[in-house]
Parts: sequence; structure tokens; C-alpha cells
Amino acid sequence: MAQSIRTMISPGRYAQGKGAIHQLGRHLAPLGSTPLLVADDVVWGFVGHDVEASLAEAGLPVDRRAFGGVPSSKEVDRLVGEITSSGADVVVAIGGGSTIDAVKAAGHLAGVRWANAPTVASTDAPCSALSVIYTEDGEFEAYRFFPRNPDLVLVDSQLVANAPAEFLIAGVGDALATWLEARATSRSNSPTMAGGLPTLAGTALAQLSWDVLWENALPAIDAVRDSQVTPAVEKVIEANTLLSGLGFESGGLAAAHAIHNGLTSVAATHGLAHGQKVNLGSVAQLVLEGANPADLREFIEFTTIVGLPTTLTEVGIRPDDADSVRAVATAAAVEGETIHSMPFEVTADDVAAALTSIDRHATRIRENANLPAPAPYTAKH
Ligand SMILES: [Zn+2]
Repeated sequence: MAQSIRTMISPGRYAQGKGAIHQLGRHLAPLGSTPLLVADDVVWGFVGHDVEASLAEAGLPVDRRAFGGVPSSKEVDRLVGEITSSGADVVVAIGGGSTIDAVKAAGHLAGVRWANAPTVASTDAPCSALSVIYTEDGEFEAYRFFPRNPDLVLVDSQLVANAPAEFLIAGVGDALATWLEARATSRSNSPTMAGGLPTLAGTALAQLSWDVLWENALPAIDAVRDSQVTPAVEKVIEANTLLSGLGFESGGLAAAHAIHNGLTSVAATHGLAHGQKVNLGSVAQLVLEGANPADLREFIEFTTIVGLPTTLTEVGIRPDDADSVRAVATAAAVEGETIHSMPFEVTADDVAAALTSIDRHATRIRENANLPAPAPYTAKH
């Protein structure tokens, strides 16, 4: 009986716009009197001044701690210690998806409220009631689920536009996957990350995210290259953060994210952003679905123009490196992975075949469309 319950969850408040960071104090005040801010030194360098002014205006003290770089169990436990020893009653992540994932997990364990002020629109992390925990080397370890979503998600669009465009591009990759995965979850009537079957609302938001991105991603990326906030930029920030955030959580994940998680088992991929790897997962999911060739071609063309990887080569894996492909496929198809929300059975062999087939086909599509050939990715570290 419980299997038939449909569920939708969301953050308590979502605020987005140019200069929104100036309202951080005002929105935090109802949540607590002693906030603890977590931001790395780079982020704090460009946003600390405005955050301090905003909190002072709301009569809140400023206590900032650094973030260690990877949302690992160890970093989460360290942050729990910081929260507990500081006596904070609300913890605020300021930065990207890694900071946010670590702070959500730490806030939950410390028993305080939590809020997110993403400074980039690169992942689905800000709105959800779950964190992705990685090993200290950057390998996917586990999803952690929490009983509540963040109390507040506040996005300053100017900060997002000031960040390198690569962050927004990665966010587009993460958000395009949302509809492909929600559509698959809806077809199979599988449970979502929200702990129930998908609602019409969750599925519809995932589809809206897709539509908004096909129309606005390219003009938005161009605007952000000049640090400009245009209506297209606002729409893409909302698609990447709110629509995709609610859409993946309450609409469901399927093959694309499972393949992303599989890719993290190969060290060569570790320097890439989450959304870059997710995009290859989306291409692989379309192949697994036996997608209409025109749909597959359009997706590869569009995401290549956006600036996302569409081949194994571009995420650091040679397509003839059978061991690496096998490692990715095995991890992606492990029991309990969201790939089993696809409306048909998927085995590691299926994933390996799909992945191995991509490079040759994507290269041909790109050649025919006069798009650049895939350039091999080499990890920076
Ligand atoms: Zn994601």
C-alpha cells in the first residue's frame, strides 16, 4: 500500500535575484540567532564583505569557518564539531555544490537548521534534502537522506554571473538530465529521492527545466561570459537550481546519475565537474533507451555547443579501455542504484555496450554538424 504514495518535498523558501545576498541576514533572522557561515577562502574573499553587512543589518553575529574542499564523511564530521563548539543554531553554506552537500549533512547531524546561499548555479545540490558523500579522493560513496529540506535557498544572480561560465555550463548538464531521468521514473512508476512515487508536479518541473534550458542556455552562457545578468540568465539559474532541484528529487533519478556515479570510480574523471559527467550519463541513457536517432543527434549537438562532454574521451577514458568502461558500468548498475528506475532491466553489460558505442557515433554527429572533434581530457592534478 505504501508503494502507492506520491510525494513532493521542497525547501522552505527560495529567493533569487540580482543583489539577493544583501537580504541574507533578513531571511536568516527567523531561522536562528547564532548563524555559522561555511565558505572556502576564495568564496569568502568576494562575498564576505556583503554577507557581513547583511548580517549586521539584521542584528546577527558573523562567524565564518572554512570548508575543506571535498564533502567526505570526515569533512562532515569536522563541520559537526565546528557547529557544536560554536553554539550555532543555523548553519549556512555559501559556495558551490560541495560546500552545500557537506553543510547539509553536518547541519542534520548537529541538529540545527540549515540554509544555502549558492554562489554558482552548477548543481542540483542547493534545494534537496539529501547530500552526496564522496571519498576523500572524490569517488562517489553514498547518498545521505535527511528528514527536511533546507529552510532557505538564496541565490544572488550577480554572483552567479560573476563566476566563470563553466559553472553555469556544468549546471545545464546536471539540469538537462533531470527531465530524461524523471521521464524514465514516471514511465516505470518507480520511487523518487523524495521517498514516494513521483507527483505530477515533480515530473512537470523536470520537464519545464528542460524546456527553459533548450531556449535559454546559449544566450545565458554568452551573457555570463561578460558577467551580465539578463532575463535568460535568471531563467537558467532557476532551471539549474530550483526546477532541476525539485525535479530530480521529487521526479526521480534514473540512468544518467547512476552512470555519473559509476564514472567517479575512475580516477581520470575526478577533475571534472558533476554536471559534465552527468551529461555523458544523459547521452548513455538515451542510447540505453534506444532513443529516436534524431533526438540523440539533437542532444549531442546541443550539449556540444553548450560546452559539455558527449564522449568518454572528453571525460578522460579511452573508449577501448575495457577495464575502465567495465568499472564504470559495474558501479553504475550496482544493486540499489537509480539505474534500476529505468522502465526496463539494465545490466552492467548494457551500460558497457552503450558507453563503448558513444564515442564513434558522437564523433560522426559532431563532424556532420561541423562541431569540434572530442579532445581528450587529462586530469589537472
Ligand atoms: Zn546531479
